[in-house]
Amino acid sequence: MTKKQQIDIKINGRPCTCTKGEFLLEVAKRNGFYIPTLCHHPGIAEQGCCRVCLAEVAENGRSKIVVSCVYPVERPCEAYTDSERVKEDRSVVLMLLAMRAPESTEIKALCKQYGAMDHSRFKPIDGEKCIMCGLCARACASLGAGAISTVLRGTSKKISTPYDEPSETCVGCLSCTKVCPTNAIAYTEDKDKRSIWGRGFTLISCPECGEPIGTREEMELAALRSGEEVQELCPKCRKKKMSDVLAHTYGIE
Ligand code: SF4
Repeated sequence: MTKKQQIDIKINGRPCTCTKGEFLLEVAKRNGFYIPTLCHHPGIAEQGCCRVCLAEVAENGRSKIVVSCVYPVERPCEAYTDSERVKEDRSVVLMLLAMRAPESTEIKALCKQYGAMDHSRFKPIDGEKCIMCGLCARACASLGAGAISTVLRGTSKKISTPYDEPSETCVGCLSCTKVCPTNAIAYTEDKDKRSIWGRGFTLISCPECGEPIGTREEMELAALRSGEEVQELCPKCRKKKMSDVLAHTYGIE
């Protein structure tokens, strides 16, 4: 197996080592540097949509602004996560996001943090919380449901199910809501009923401990993807059952 090439770079003046091709955001995070992010989520492919994670990269006497979550480090360079240029550009990005999603408390907090408070140049979209980063749709696609996507154009652009109809492929797992950086996706839950994207689901409980374990549809999808049977018990009771079986097999009291 060929060993990946190691590269020496500097971040904010401090020497750091990374693997050739590693994204700058990951290198910075691993070395303890803070870069704000919205559409970044571990385990979901990067797309660099929100552009909040800007950084400045200097090499061969030139410097440029890059989107750090999708910028692969290919050669030695100096990177800056909080230079004046970064702060200025990040502030413009935040102002645009604040106009796109004026109801988002997360965006308001970032605007305050980076002094992006002059929104007079742009017209806000009333009542909106979604920044259109698409992380929810990528999460949904990655679990194999593919129930939501970007629809319409311009200021009407939004994330929805096809034709805004309840989607047959949605399994009610709430993964989309959990990854959303601005809590823009609405759902309701009442006892064993859950409703999201216009569709209702019944929550199944573990027959051993009574804890809700999800919707029947999401358990069936998980079983289909893993090639195993639909799990009826919650992970905790499954683990306990497994150790009981092992204890019984090996005669352990
Ligand atoms: S709740 Fe529906 S739309 Fe949201 S991630 Fe799960 S399957 Fe996709």
